[in-house]
Parts: sequence; C-alpha cells; structure tokens
Amino acid sequence: MSKQRSVVVVGGGLAGGLVALRLQAMRPDLDLLLLEQGESFGGEHTWCFHDADIASGGEWILPFKTCSWPGYEVRFPGYKRRFSGAYHALRSADLHRHIAQQLGARAQTNAAVLSLTPHLVTLVDGRTFAADCVIDTRGFTPGETSACAYQKFHGLFVTTATPHGLTEPVLMDAAVEQIDGYRFIYVLPWSRTQLLVEDTRYSDGPSLDKAAMRGSLVDYIKEHIASVFTVTGDETGVLPIPLHGALKPVTAPGVVTAGVRAGLFHPTTGYSLPDAVRFANWLAEAADFDGDVLSVAAADRASAHWARGSFCRRLNNMMFMAAAPEARRRIMAQFYRRDSGLIERFYASSLTQLDWLRLLSGRPPVAVGAGLRAFFVKAASG
Ligand SMILES: Cc1cc2nc3c(=O)[nH]c(=O)nc-3n(C[C@H](O)[C@H](O)[C@H](O)COP(=O)(O)OP(=O)(O)OC[C@H]3O[C@@H](n4cnc5c(N)ncnc54)[C@H](O)[C@@H]3O)c2cc1C
Repeated sequence: MSKQRSVVVVGGGLAGGLVALRLQAMRPDLDLLLLEQGESFGGEHTWCFHDADIASGGEWILPFKTCSWPGYEVRFPGYKRRFSGAYHALRSADLHRHIAQQLGARAQTNAAVLSLTPHLVTLVDGRTFAADCVIDTRGFTPGETSACAYQKFHGLFVTTATPHGLTEPVLMDAAVEQIDGYRFIYVLPWSRTQLLVEDTRYSDGPSLDKAAMRGSLVDYIKEHIASVFTVTGDETGVLPIPLHGALKPVTAPGVVTAGVRAGLFHPTTGYSLPDAVRFANWLAEAADFDGDVLSVAAADRASAHWARGSFCRRLNNMMFMAAAPEARRRIMAQFYRRDSGLIERFYASSLTQLDWLRLLSGRPPVAVGAGLRAFFVKAASG
C-alpha cells in the first residue's frame, strides 16, 4: 500500500477554505491540515456569484451559501434591465461554520505561518509541519501586481425599520453621481429588512475615503431605500484590476500556489470565487500529492489562466486608458444592453472568439483611435 500523503494548506481564506473542503470530501486518502492566521476562516467578506459561474461541477458549494435570488437588476441613467438566472452570496461566517464542521481539528485558526518551503511549514509560534505537498493560498499582497487599476468598495450592512420592498439584488445602480472613476451602488437584500449596500468604484488609484463613502451611502439609502435604518456592520475592499502588460503573479517552485496569489481571478471584475471552485475541483482529481510534481502542474494551469485573460485585460486598458472617468459609465451601459448569454459568458470567463468580436462591434463609447491604441498597447509596469 502506498504511503499516506500529507497536505498542508496555508491560508484559510476563500481559496484555501474551498480547497480544504473539497479535499476533505473527495480525498479521504490524504492527511490534511488547513492553517489560518486569523481568528476565523474567510475573514470578513461577502462573495457573490452567478449560477452559470459554477456550472459543470461547482454545485457542491451551494449547500453552505448564505442566500440566493432568482435574478438581479442593473440601472443606468434612463435605462434599467432585469436579468433572470440564480445569483448567490456566500458570507465568510457561513464558510467558517462549514469548514469548522467538516474539518474539525484538521483546520486551525490563530495559526500564523512565518515561512514555508516545498515540504516544511513553520508557524510564528515555533511549531513546524512537514508535508508532501504545501498549498499556498495566502491571498493578494498589494504591490505584487504591476500595471493595474482598481475596483474598490465600501459597504454597509443595514437593518431597516420597516420592510424595504427589494426582493432581488441591484448589481449596479450606476444612475448615481460619478466620482473617482466609474461609480455604482450595489444592493443585496438579505431579508425583508436587512441589506448590504455598497459604494463601488473602478478607479485609477487604490486610495479610498471610507468616511466620505459612508456619508454618500447613508444619503443613497435615505433617498432610495428607507428613511429609518441602523447600520450593523461594514465591509471594505480594494481589488487589483490588471491591465494588458501587467506581470503574471510569480509562483514559488515546489509549492502549489492558488487563489488570487496565483492570479486565479477574473481580470475585469477581480472576482475569484468561480476560479477557486474550479481550482479545488482540479486539485481533488490529482493522481498523486507530490508537491514537487503538482506545483509544476498548478503553475502551468495558472499560466494558462493568465493567458486566457489577455482579452479582458485589453478591455480593461480601453476602460481605464482610453475612457475618461465619465465615459466609463457609457461603456458599462453599452455592455449591459448586450445579449444576456454573452454577459453570462463574460462573468463565467467562458467568452468565445465570436463573443470577442461582438464585444468590440457596434458604435464605440470611446474615440475609435484611442480605443484601438489602448487595446493594443502594453500598460507600463510599475
Ligand atoms: C470585500 C471583498 C468582497 C469581494 N467580493 C467578491 C465577490 O462577491 N465574488 C468574488 O468572486 N470575489 C470577491 N472578492 C474578490 C476575491 O474573491 C476575494 O478577495 C477572495 O477572498 C480571494 O480569495 P483568496 O483565498 O485568494 O484570498 P483571501 O480570501 O484573502 O485569503 C487569504 C487568507 O490567507 C490568510 N493568510 C495570509 N497570510 C497568512 C499567514 N502568514 N499565515 C496564515 N494565514 C495567512 C489570510 O488571513 C486570509 O484568510 C471580494 C474581495 C473583497 C476584498
């Protein structure tokens, strides 16, 4: 009988948590350990995804999702549209609960990793864990991605005094004042009186004024949702949106690297849940958990993913380099008038070459010359 392989997953965020859950379910042959530096798995996040994003094999995450809706709406000045198709949210508290239930002592919080090598993980408290395979999912470190723009957001969890009347998410209410790039409000109705309301901006820079964003969110809620409400929590994020020319994240030899650390995210939305699910599925199929071999396969897979994102990074160039901030809303409004299948494939990272042509066709919302230059030029790294 072959020796049982030991696997240590470093980082119990979205990617690490999903990898550990998938291996726990599918690979009882492994000696598995998940290590997270924080007090809980998943941090403080709300991850959303469309049904189509996890089609063909990702349904296993649905039993522990937080909420689902049958469709969603987008709003632009003078135009709104409803899309049907399930839209789901997973909150980190639910991911944490599920990991704790499923993995028990195989998943540890308050376990900060000081250093890792292909076969040894050392914690800050001095403990060490030897492993046949080390999986590094420690997340994105600012400064690691060159030539990028940013999606940044600040959201408030609110409870309204009376039912707010919203039954489905508003994915983008872009009929709001445009500040600091392309700005929209995102609304998730958790229940008849509970909501997440988020101010999102596609900006050139990463800085974010939480106090000002909170003020404008409070004004928005009063004007559009409810006059009496309490704020019960908040959420903030800054995601890199890589431009064409951005360098692919570096993966360490001998270590299986995953999650946003390995560049496994959507180039335009910055979202990584669908890629984290696909990666967990892929890993669970591995013939042998020999880190020296698996790390090469994972790095090849990450490179292929990065190469496939080239078209979307070029679209990012058009959005950020050819369009003045106020023109970015016109680009998005035009996008949301397109065929719903194409929009679905865009989010699911399954665009066809015909889709590429479709996306580039029609009356451009930016000057043709500037758009073409931006599409082909490599943004400066820095
Ligand atoms: C507020 C916010 C909302 C988002 N919403 C969505 C969304 O709706 N849909 C979507 O698909 N994407 C969303 N994203 C983008 C992306 O999916 C998330 O950033 C996602 O959490 C990235 O997953 P990850 O596992 O790669 O990194 P993370 O989730 O950041 O996980 C990394 C983990 O590693 C741990 N860690 C780091 N260093 C160490 C160490 N030395 N020792 C031990 N542990 C360590 C961290 O504490 C963390 O828990 C959102 C991002 C943010 C910030």
